[in-house]
Amino acid sequence: MDTAALMIRNVNLSYQDGLIVDDVTLGLKPQELGCLLGPSGCGKSTLLRAIAGFQELDSGEIWLDNELLSTERHRIPPEERGVGMVFQDIALFPHLTVADNIAFGLTGWSETSQYKRIAELLDLIGLTGLGQRYPHELSGGQQQRVALARAMAPKPKLLLLDEPFSGLDTELRGRLASEVRTILKSDGICSLLVTHDQREAFDFADRIAVMHDGHICQFDTPFNLYHEPTDPFVAHFVGPGEMIDATIEGPRSVSSPLGLLTNDEDLEYPINSDVQIFLRPDDLIHDDDSSYQATLVGKHFRGAHHLYEVKLDNGVILGCLAPSHHNHTIGELIGVSLDIEHLVVFPK
Ligand code: ADP
Ligand code: MG
Repeated sequence: MDTAALMIRNVNLSYQDGLIVDDVTLGLKPQELGCLLGPSGCGKSTLLRAIAGFQELDSGEIWLDNELLSTERHRIPPEERGVGMVFQDIALFPHLTVADNIAFGLTGWSETSQYKRIAELLDLIGLTGLGQRYPHELSGGQQQRVALARAMAPKPKLLLLDEPFSGLDTELRGRLASEVRTILKSDGICSLLVTHDQREAFDFADRIAVMHDGHICQFDTPFNLYHEPTDPFVAHFVGPGEMIDATIEGPRSVSSPLGLLTNDEDLEYPINSDVQIFLRPDDLIHDDDSSYQATLVGKHFRGAHHLYEVKLDNGVILGCLAPSHHNHTIGELIGVSLDIEHLVVFPK
C-alpha cells in the first residue's frame, strides 16, 4: 500500500444492464507504466473512467498517492484528482498553435513557467521549435504526441491513455507505443494504457493486466504473460500457441503426443491426471536430427525464419519455427523437437 501510486481494491462497476467490472484489484508503483489489455467490450474503458472519476463505484476503493479518490459513497471530482487523460480521438484545438494547445492545462501557471514547461515538453516529444505550428501542419503521429504533451503538461500524478494509438496506421502505432514509453519514463509519470493490441501493450508497459469479461486474469510482466501464463485465456490472447493433451507421469514429467516432456520444477498435479500443455511456435523447433517426425501442412515466410504448421500423428496441428534456409515443401515429413524447460500446464 505504501509504495503503490495507484491502488484499485475490489472494484465493481455496472451499467443498467448489469455488472461490467467484476471485483478488480490492481496496483501500480510510482513511475510504473501499466496496461489494461483485453478484447473489445471487456470493461477496460469503464474501469479507466472510474479511475478518472467519471464513473460511480458499486463497491470497492480507488486510491492515488495514498489519497482515497472513490468509494461507493464518495467521489472526488475528476478535475481535483491530478489525473490526466488522452483518448483515441486526438482532439487538439485546431485554431490554437501547438504551444497554446499544450498551455491549455497550465492555467494558474506564471507566463515564465508556462514557457519553460512547453519548451521542455516540445523537446521531450521531439518537436523542438515547432510550437508555433498549427495541428494541421503536423503528421498524425506528431499530433498524438502533442496531445500527450498537453495531458502531461500540468504534471498529473497519473496519466490515463485510452487506445490513444488506434486511429493511426500499424507501423506508426508500434513506434509510438515505444516512443511514448520513453517519454513517460524520462518524465517519471505513472501511467495506465488501455489497448486491445498485445504488441502495443508489450511495447509500452512494465506490467500488463489481461482483462476478460470484466475481470483481471493475470497482472504480470510481458515476459511472464508470454512464457508463464496462468490462465488459458491469457495464453491465447498474448500470442500464438496450441494446447495438446498430456498425462502427468511423475513429479516433473508428462507424457504427450511429442513424447515424455520434463519440467524445470515440480508440477502441482497428481500423478496420472489428464492435463493440457500449452505450446508456442517457438517451443517447437524444426530439427533434422530428431526422431520425431511430423507432416508439414502450412508454411509462412517470416524473414529470418519460417513459421511452419506441422501435423502430429494424432492430428493436432502445432506452430513450429524453422531457420529460413530450411526450405521444406508442404506434405513432407520433417523432424521436430521441443525446446522448452518450463511447461505451461492447465487442467483438462
Ligand atoms: P472496452 O473499453 O474494454 O472495449 P467498455 O468498458 O467500453 O469496454 O464497455 C464494457 C461493456 O459495457 C460493453 O458491453 C459496453 O457495451 C457496455 N457499456 C459501455 N458504456 C456503457 C454505457 N454508458 N451504458 C451502458 N453500457 C455501456
Ligand atoms: Mg474502450
